[in-house]
Amino acid sequence: MDIVPLYIEGINSKRPLVFAGPCSAENEEQVLATARRLAAIGIQVYRAGVWKPRTKPGGFEGMGIEGLRWLKMVKEETGMLTATEVANARHTEEALKWGVDILWLGARTTANPFAVQEIAESLTGVDIPVLVKNPVNPDLDLWIGAMERLVSCGITRIAAVHRGFSSYEKGLFRNQPQWHIPIELKRRMPELTILCDPSHIGGRPELIYPLSQQAMDLGFDGLMVESHSNPSEALSDKEQQITPETLGRILSLLVIRSTPDTSEFLSEMRREIDEIDDRILNLLSKRMSVAREIGKYKMANNIPVLQPVRYDRMVTNRLAQALGLELDGEFIKLMLEAIHEESVKQQFEIFNKGEKGEHS
Ligand code: PEP
Ligand code: MN
Repeated sequence: MDIVPLYIEGINSKRPLVFAGPCSAENEEQVLATARRLAAIGIQVYRAGVWKPRTKPGGFEGMGIEGLRWLKMVKEETGMLTATEVANARHTEEALKWGVDILWLGARTTANPFAVQEIAESLTGVDIPVLVKNPVNPDLDLWIGAMERLVSCGITRIAAVHRGFSSYEKGLFRNQPQWHIPIELKRRMPELTILCDPSHIGGRPELIYPLSQQAMDLGFDGLMVESHSNPSEALSDKEQQITPETLGRILSLLVIRSTPDTSEFLSEMRREIDEIDDRILNLLSKRMSVAREIGKYKMANNIPVLQPVRYDRMVTNRLAQALGLELDGEFIKLMLEAIHEESVKQQFEIFNKGEKGEHS
């Protein structure tokens, strides 16, 4: 894919690149008051939704074109660039007509290839940066697929926005961060600019700072944060918006560590890690070959593959051992489950082959 690091003319490329503004453009006064206060803390790109995808009908669905007019006023008065969410070709046309500088695809749109294709085609021949939020479901290929659709219509100024993934169980986060997914995205597309949206991941103000710091420490390029002139009165996502001044304080607290190319210490430690990984892989290979031997024995002696009592004892013993080794119990449990699942799979393969053999 032909993707270059996001370049936006007139924007300071220093990390973090910050997009900030209200969840929704609600009225002229709120849009402009928020914009003035964000400009005062040095924000260069103003975000606001004018078409809002709502979970249930009857909520505030955005101000549409009226909102685009206020965004134009923001640009004229403060000099900030503006960004809004588009979910279909009509939105795109209107946003371009009103001079919006940057577009973004929301999480629900990224999950819908028909909508993404329609938007991509409506942007053919237009040179505009487009941000692609991750789909609501944790599917990296769907996320990359949406970017590919844009690229194939000639859009190369693309950035990904990690906004977390929805889940049925509600825990600490509004949307689960599942950091390994954006990390894998970065591994597959090292040139891609990736922003983090701590507002939609955390769903509450007190999580914005720790999530932003974590994103910076993971090498993200920037942040998209929801900021409202009067959060408690917001018409959408009221629980997660912060004032421009709070955002200013959070940004000033962030420690931005630069990625060192390498150092003698890091090279030495990485060599050690590579050696350990090598040993882990060899041990896993050995473990699977023992599992297959056991499978053959079980097959020959008519013993079922799964031995729940043995499995339970194995997990209990290993967890106790893990505690003594200062290993996280949850992590070890996940690892043991994955190893056990693979062993069982390998044994089933032996059973299936054996059965086929009998009939052939
Ligand atoms: C938003 O940024 O206001 C929004 C609707 O986000 P998401 O698509 O990530 O839910
Ligand atoms: Mn929102």
